[in-house]
Amino acid sequence: MKRLQNKASSLKIRATPSGADTGLRIVSGEVVDAHGASYDGTWTYVAAKAGAGWASTAFLGPPAAAPPPPVPAPSKGILVCVDAGHGGHDSGAVSAAGVTEKALALVYAQDLRATLVGAGHRVVMTRDKDEFIPLAGRSAFSNEHRAECFISVHLNAADSKLANGAWVIHDDNSGSGPGSGKALATAIFRRMRDVPGVADADAAEEVFPDDSPPVGNRDLAVLGGTRAPAVLVELGFLTNEEDFGALSTSGVRMAVVRAIAAGVQDWLAARK
Ligand SMILES: [Zn+2]
Repeated sequence: MKRLQNKASSLKIRATPSGADTGLRIVSGEVVDAHGASYDGTWTYVAAKAGAGWASTAFLGPPAAAPPPPVPAPSKGILVCVDAGHGGHDSGAVSAAGVTEKALALVYAQDLRATLVGAGHRVVMTRDKDEFIPLAGRSAFSNEHRAECFISVHLNAADSKLANGAWVIHDDNSGSGPGSGKALATAIFRRMRDVPGVADADAAEEVFPDDSPPVGNRDLAVLGGTRAPAVLVELGFLTNEEDFGALSTSGVRMAVVRAIAAGVQDWLAARK
């Protein structure tokens, strides 16, 4: 599946290629999911906000890079535990070019801290340098500080170079009650999927058939041992060329950390 943006002022959705007007419209600038094309490519089958059908390919283009979402100031800051995955002798995943998950996760975690602090929160980091910390030590650290939410930052890897897209994982056994990590995971993913090049719902669907993809429930020690609502963000696949290329740029990195911070704000606002 591709995501495409309507470059026209308003775009008709037709029942068949060049067929009857359904009366539904794709509004200007709307980004839609494209699921296929007519044999000659002039019509694209899309899922838009108004509904699904065929739209003229000529007016659909790659989504413009969205400006990073603004992070609204919270009424009251909370204490967030940010956990950069792996470290020390545990490198985590490794890209084709030899970039390690532990190194990239730390850069993202440090920028996430800066963004959260800028939004009025307090942040503790399980690690702020290249060191090994056991999973139980990460949970214990969060619990000792009485963090109000826990965000573990990772990058994914797969045997298939095609596997791509961001996931946000929660563990229904973690936090103050079932689903408490799920609400946070969902809020974060909703923001992340707006960052161009980050999300691929199709890829994640294959991995999480039992949950609303690409937000998945899994038993993970680092989440299960944490008392605060806890999530693990897999930013994308180090083993996928496009994911790795995008995630290596500072522009995407800033957009992603702001999206995660905005997800935290959304979650806090919904809790009130
Ligand atoms: Zn990892």
